[in-house]
Amino acid sequence: MIQSYKQKNNLKENYDAIIVGSGIGSLCTAALLSKEGKKVLVLERHYTAGGFTHVFKRKGYEWDVGIHYIGEVQNPNAPIRKMFDYISNNKLEWADMGEVYDKIIIGDKTYDFVKGVKNFKTKMYEYFPDDIDAIDKYVQLIFDCNKTMKKFYLEKALPTILSKLIGFFFRKNYLKYSSKTTYEVISSITENEDLIKVLTGQYGDYGLPPKQSSFAMHASVVKHYFNGGSFPIGGSSQIANTIDKVIESSQGTIVVNAEVKKIIIENNKAVGVEMIDGKKFHSDLIISGTGVFQTYNHLIPKDISVKHGFVNNLKKVTPSVAHGCLYLGLNGTSEELDLPKNNLWIYPKDIDHDTAVSNYLKDNDSDFPLVYISFASSKDPSWQSRYPNKSTIDIITLLPYESFMKWEGTKWMKRGNDYNDLKEKITNRLLDHLYKQLPHLKGKIDCHELSSPLTTKNFVNYDKGELYGIDHNPSRFNQKFLRPQTPIKGLYLTGQDIVSAGVGGALFSGLITSASITGIDFMKKIYK
Ligand SMILES: Cc1cc2nc3c(=O)[nH]c(=O)nc-3n(C[C@H](O)[C@H](O)[C@H](O)COP(=O)(O)OP(=O)(O)OC[C@H]3O[C@@H](n4cnc5c(N)ncnc54)[C@H](O)[C@@H]3O)c2cc1C
Repeated sequence: MIQSYKQKNNLKENYDAIIVGSGIGSLCTAALLSKEGKKVLVLERHYTAGGFTHVFKRKGYEWDVGIHYIGEVQNPNAPIRKMFDYISNNKLEWADMGEVYDKIIIGDKTYDFVKGVKNFKTKMYEYFPDDIDAIDKYVQLIFDCNKTMKKFYLEKALPTILSKLIGFFFRKNYLKYSSKTTYEVISSITENEDLIKVLTGQYGDYGLPPKQSSFAMHASVVKHYFNGGSFPIGGSSQIANTIDKVIESSQGTIVVNAEVKKIIIENNKAVGVEMIDGKKFHSDLIISGTGVFQTYNHLIPKDISVKHGFVNNLKKVTPSVAHGCLYLGLNGTSEELDLPKNNLWIYPKDIDHDTAVSNYLKDNDSDFPLVYISFASSKDPSWQSRYPNKSTIDIITLLPYESFMKWEGTKWMKRGNDYNDLKEKITNRLLDHLYKQLPHLKGKIDCHELSSPLTTKNFVNYDKGELYGIDHNPSRFNQKFLRPQTPIKGLYLTGQDIVSAGVGGALFSGLITSASITGIDFMKKIYK
């Protein structure tokens, strides 16, 4: 059972591996190492485990923070599903969201993203009958790009020396796609800006609009959802809960309320961690799943970070955008409230995504560049037995960290009236969007709470409240330091910064980190 660091009285001083953070990358690494017989200690700073896959409970409701849908898990033979089965000992279950997974809403028009590549294409032909050729080319490009992805990421598991010698041959085909922006690639096959706007209508899944994002990231997200979306039965917390049992079966453990102050390094070798209360744990294998900014700016002594060029490397990447999420609790079941399972992506009309973002960053009172609405309680078949006669909705938008900087250093829930006033203003603007789509929900909301970038910073420890770790722009894919192995012996990285944002990307980071550490071909082992 996952317990608090202070309550857990049988912690040892030495472990085979210590993992900082309990995001899905860390949990996957912990499970894979545990299954190889290693005793693993996972230290999580938050009061609950899972990183962005955690849930929180308040006022008789439960909300999922960083999972709204996951692709491919509905297929028992899909690599991501096989990985989840392996690391949870087949205990994780998934509920399909149905035929339509995303609805892109631009002004008064709605475009359904439907399950199945053929169906997707047919729908797009209906919406854009003059662009059939471009739609075919687009889908082909999505597949072509994804075919080159596996080798690119496998290269990250190679020892650094080998990577320097032959790495380029693994990386070069993917780099052809990743070095271009999404807009560059799609605009080379169509001039229809409306079509481009719709095809990039899931850009919120990776945080950057088409003229800034790498096409490789766009392609991996689009393909990930081509066969629909699914939701963990029992909610996102099932991920940490099921994986915990696998870790415990090898005498390892996850502890929460356990903040690591620093990674102890002696003679260029990681030998343990020091907690904020001064207690030390020892291991010759330390893995950080907290993100590259957190690891290299805060967990490693400054002089070592400078010596190894980590500080310089961090100048080559940028933190991703921050967000706010309005968590709503409603009286009534999803059926009674007629809540859909699919997500809504709402965009302003007559303006492209990039201009909408740039206008909004200049003036936060201008239209939100995107509003995303997800109905978690309707996606989880176990919800009604867990929370009878209740429902939840999450509404997300971009909120720049800079707009909240003046409250840096204030305490959660005690940030002052002006902070609460700003949140109330944002809340009302987001509710207007909800009521425009689902007017019958007016008067049905029982409680609400808006998170801000400071909430993300407070709970998940990203300095700028980043939504997706580091930005997924073309230059990110050229950064060779984004790999598990570090120049410090025994220190490894895992998590979304090593592969990409998204539960699938972060999960896969666990596989390459574990392969890099042990030399085991986990792909063969899991996919056989
Ligand atoms: C609002 C939102 C919605 C999302 N929706 C989806 C979705 O629908 N589908 C999808 O696939 N993906 C989604 N994602 C993305 C996905 O959740 C993340 O990419 C993924 O979970 C990141 O995993 P990670 O392994 O990198 O670790 P993270 O989840 O980033 O966890 C890092 C952990 O490290 C801990 N930590 C940091 N510093 C310390 C320290 N010093 N000591 C101890 N612990 C520390 C943090 O508290 C945190 O728990 C969403 C993300 C967000 C924010």
